[in-house]
Amino acid sequence: MANNLGLTVKPITGISPEEEARIAAWIDSPEYREKNFARQALVVNPVHACQPLGAELCAHGFEGTLPFVHGSQGCASYYRSTLNRHFREPAAAVCSAMTEDGAVFGGQANLHEGLENAYALYKPKMISIFTSCMPEIIGDDLTAFLKNARAKGVIPQDFPLPFANTPSFNGTHVTGYDAMLLAILQTLTAGKRVEDRCTGKLNFIAGFDTNTGNYREYKRIFEAFRIPYTFLADISESFDSPLDGTYRPYPGGTPLDEAADAVNGKATLTVGPHATQKTFAWVKDSFAGKHASLPMPMGVARTDAFMLKLAELSGHPVPESIKAERGRAVDAMTDAHQYMHGKKFAVYGDPDLLLGYVSLLLEMGATPHHILVSKGSKKLEKELQALLDASPYGKGAKIYLNKDLWHLRSLLVTDRVDGVLGDTHGKFAARDARVPLFRFGFPIFDRVNRHRFPIVGYAGVVHMVTEICNKLIELRDDTDDDRHFEMMR
Ligand code: SF4
Repeated sequence: MANNLGLTVKPITGISPEEEARIAAWIDSPEYREKNFARQALVVNPVHACQPLGAELCAHGFEGTLPFVHGSQGCASYYRSTLNRHFREPAAAVCSAMTEDGAVFGGQANLHEGLENAYALYKPKMISIFTSCMPEIIGDDLTAFLKNARAKGVIPQDFPLPFANTPSFNGTHVTGYDAMLLAILQTLTAGKRVEDRCTGKLNFIAGFDTNTGNYREYKRIFEAFRIPYTFLADISESFDSPLDGTYRPYPGGTPLDEAADAVNGKATLTVGPHATQKTFAWVKDSFAGKHASLPMPMGVARTDAFMLKLAELSGHPVPESIKAERGRAVDAMTDAHQYMHGKKFAVYGDPDLLLGYVSLLLEMGATPHHILVSKGSKKLEKELQALLDASPYGKGAKIYLNKDLWHLRSLLVTDRVDGVLGDTHGKFAARDARVPLFRFGFPIFDRVNRHRFPIVGYAGVVHMVTEICNKLIELRDDTDDDRHFEMMR
């Protein structure tokens, strides 16, 4: 083999085509699957990102807020580019750019200089700080660093500076989202609780949700109910603002004064129970009014529960327009069920999403045959198992906790399914197994505009069922011997 200088390069270890073919066949075998599942000290293509990425997403959901990464520049680029590629929108964030000297002497100098510059140059209303691995490993004390920053006049005394420790060797992007949301709400609402004051509003938390169509769908539903609301960590405009020729560094986000007054709300509802565990536990102790936590409203049963909860919390009946939507969603499912019924699927992703996928598939008479999650809890396992046990289509389904997409590949090639639901990172596993990948979740880099279409509510049911069934129909149609497939009955 010649290199780009025309010189012959002799491989150190020669691998014959026969040996390559043998290995390629072996990694598809049950024997390899067993070895793959026995691996302990290595993760290959995990189904999660690191904590700070979730923290950055959350920070983008507040008015005039500049996300600030305390740590290395490469890490900051990773979160920004991942968000940027998923949404195809800018994800403006800054970084304290720690290098070797920061790792030895601590990151206080970097943090102070970064804060001073960011405040002066980008004129934010709030700076939300979170950490990458390096300052966590060396034990940077953010409480002290920020106190010193204010004392030195680097940043005004009353300027909001929520911060979250987001060590990536622990947890996932979902944990980081939770930590940042908690820090922001604690900062903004400090001293704002007023006895006997009630905003009359519903505080709503979507959790780690990167589907801007979902945010718009929730708002549309609240408006149909005529429920006044405060959408906490609202990224719908931040990552889906109109293209009108004007660059806005901080489009949209929850107004800071509204977020501060949320502590006096009529009720608070989260639909990301796994993504807001710490925040919701604190909200229950700190916020006025009622508190409710529901699963993400995916599928008909979970959307029904969501609508009934809205009716209960607001005191308004479920609007007729929403009831009609439900009927149309059930009709859409009935029309489509023959294409999904009896089919087997593999699903992977964040805990809240996984529960939603499984609910919808079971409602369609399909089996979520392989259910895979990285860093899943026993609580999640129990919830998934309860869903499976409640349906005849849950039989034979298996839950894989703390597994990655290389495990998924082994499952797909040795125990076949008809389709896979998940994000872009599962593409190679699905391709190797020659099964279609239905792209939902985060991140989706290799398709456009997915995040603009809701997967929650009755509209989400229609969208997901349509996407899945039409692709299954298309695959069959492209290869069917009968050229009149589905044209004549
Ligand atoms: S895992 Fe740690 S080192 Fe890697 S990108 Fe995340 S914060 Fe940076």
